[in-house]
Amino acid sequence: MENKGQKKLSRRELLAKLSPLGRVEQDAAKCTGCGLCARECPTGALEALTDAEAGTFRLLFKHGVCVACGVCVKICPEKALSVERRLEPESLGRVTILFEDELIKCSECGAPVGPRRMVEKMRSKVKTVRSELCIACKSQSWYSLVKDNGRHP
Ligand code: SF4
Ligand code: SF4
Repeated sequence: MENKGQKKLSRRELLAKLSPLGRVEQDAAKCTGCGLCARECPTGALEALTDAEAGTFRLLFKHGVCVACGVCVKICPEKALSVERRLEPESLGRVTILFEDELIKCSECGAPVGPRRMVEKMRSKVKTVRSELCIACKSQSWYSLVKDNGRHP
């Protein structure tokens, strides 16, 4: 029996609810391209692609691979993701670019650092760290600084 106020689902809505697959939606304006969601996605439905030659960073979503576990939604520090169960046989195998940005390269050695938006966010939060450097050059820079100040053996 249907509860009072409970909406009756159509056959299509019911099948979608029971679908083993999910579809991720993203608010691209909130995404910084940190790549955490892709790192933690258990199925590889999300992929962070760094192309040093083209100088681009892309976050991809592969349709038909997502199992709607919600891990990416929980881990995203910007609350940029949502997921719902969906039946979309026509989308299977399709790849959507959720986010794309210029890839910033280390100003010392040229190694990839990350997408521009993420680097700018780090710069605005931690002003003392040279966010345009890769991890290795950052460590080198810190080491030289400490050594020059005579606080390192
Ligand atoms: S809901 Fe789960 S399977 Fe789908 S993209 Fe997010 S982490 Fe990957
Ligand atoms: S969606 Fe969230 S976790 Fe994924 S890259 Fe963007 S900010 Fe990072």
